[in-house]
Amino acid sequence: SRNFRQAARLLGLDSKLEKSLLIPFREIKVAPRSLLSPLLSSPRRRPELDSVCLLSISGSFPSQVECTIPKDDGTLASFVGFRVQHDNARGPMKGGIRYHPEVDPDEVNALAQLMTWKTAVAAVPYGGAKGGIGCSPGDLSRSELERLTRVFTQKIHDLIGTHTDIPAPDMGTNSQTMAWIFDEYSKFHGHSPAVVTGKPIDLGGSLGRDAATGRGVMYATEALLAEYGKSISGSTFVIQGFGNVGSWAAQLIHEKGGKVIALGDVSGTIRNKAGIDVPALMKHRNEGGQLKDFHGAEVMDASELLVHECDVLLPCALGGVLNRENAPDVKAKFIIEAANHPTDPEADEILTKKGVVVLPDIYANAGGVIVSYFEWVQNIQGFMWEEEKVNMELHKYMNSAFQNIKAMCKSQDCNLRMGAFTLGVNRVARATILRGWEA
Ligand code: GLU
Repeated sequence: SRNFRQAARLLGLDSKLEKSLLIPFREIKVAPRSLLSPLLSSPRRRPELDSVCLLSISGSFPSQVECTIPKDDGTLASFVGFRVQHDNARGPMKGGIRYHPEVDPDEVNALAQLMTWKTAVAAVPYGGAKGGIGCSPGDLSRSELERLTRVFTQKIHDLIGTHTDIPAPDMGTNSQTMAWIFDEYSKFHGHSPAVVTGKPIDLGGSLGRDAATGRGVMYATEALLAEYGKSISGSTFVIQGFGNVGSWAAQLIHEKGGKVIALGDVSGTIRNKAGIDVPALMKHRNEGGQLKDFHGAEVMDASELLVHECDVLLPCALGGVLNRENAPDVKAKFIIEAANHPTDPEADEILTKKGVVVLPDIYANAGGVIVSYFEWVQNIQGFMWEEEKVNMELHKYMNSAFQNIKAMCKSQDCNLRMGAFTLGVNRVARATILRGWEA
């Protein structure tokens, strides 16, 4: 990935080394030790990065499975499912399972890589993976979704495991999906609650997991604004996406006194200069209402959302929503990447030039996987934590990751995205070397 290459460059990897990063991801590559010497003796060498080498991109191949299920009307339907296991130097691989029409091997592979850097930045002892099924979950009935999830689990049950690869929810999946995976997996391997995270509380899920990504986004926002002498209360926010991440982020930001002035999802885009009453909107939503029918705001054009006047913009939905078309018109001073890769590389450059501060996804949305880690720990210990403890620990992890990123930005003289990638790549590289995996 481009960010990985940039991070590698920052770490002082020479061009020869860099070229070998461009190998097709299916090939297993490990940096030969001879390639490391120029790095270690390079004038750009920095003591804290002594141990950096090109990390192994081992195991980064998509497992592709075909899942055929009977539909409710008796016809058969086939779907393609994937699981990409990117890296396990720091621990078992970890990452969500996405049900979405745009799920394809490239996308899942990119998301699996992001998980490797995200778990490293968050300092949770995992590697990275991602999975998904190309489907429109909204068009499938509950029983069709259950059959699809069970067939998918039957096909990948040997790939995943409590100490090898631990799935979690992502777009289009939720705690019920995890319950089915856990149940189906346990038929093959015996009772194994820790094989997935994001489970319902009744099946070993963690208190606070549901809100975790949104809560982490709120903590991240707080930490970033504090750097600039600002706070959530007194700032204005625009939020794209009102699903699991966006709705929790909106509620928690509202609770902290932030003014959510515009918000949108597939069911509508709305604004209210005086601030949207988020709890009232949640109530409207939970009663089955669409955003466009909410009385406490006016409807606006969806294309204006990301370029709306505000202090902080939070893309909480799909990747690639900020691009060269809309980036020049962004008015926000801060962007918190609550979605995975919402900013494409061209937009990133434009925004940086404009002086917009972008808080990168691999840090900003790490709250989900951090509390996934707490859930896994609780399952393994057989001891449930109180919600206050979960939230307090999440706060600690988010703050400490932010401090680490800041320190990296300072020592490397780089922006937050490069600081986060450099931190993540460096931690994975160190684990790779310590395990003796480099050739
Ligand atoms: N799907 C979430 C993410 O992209 C959570 C992953 C997990 O908890 O393993 O970070």
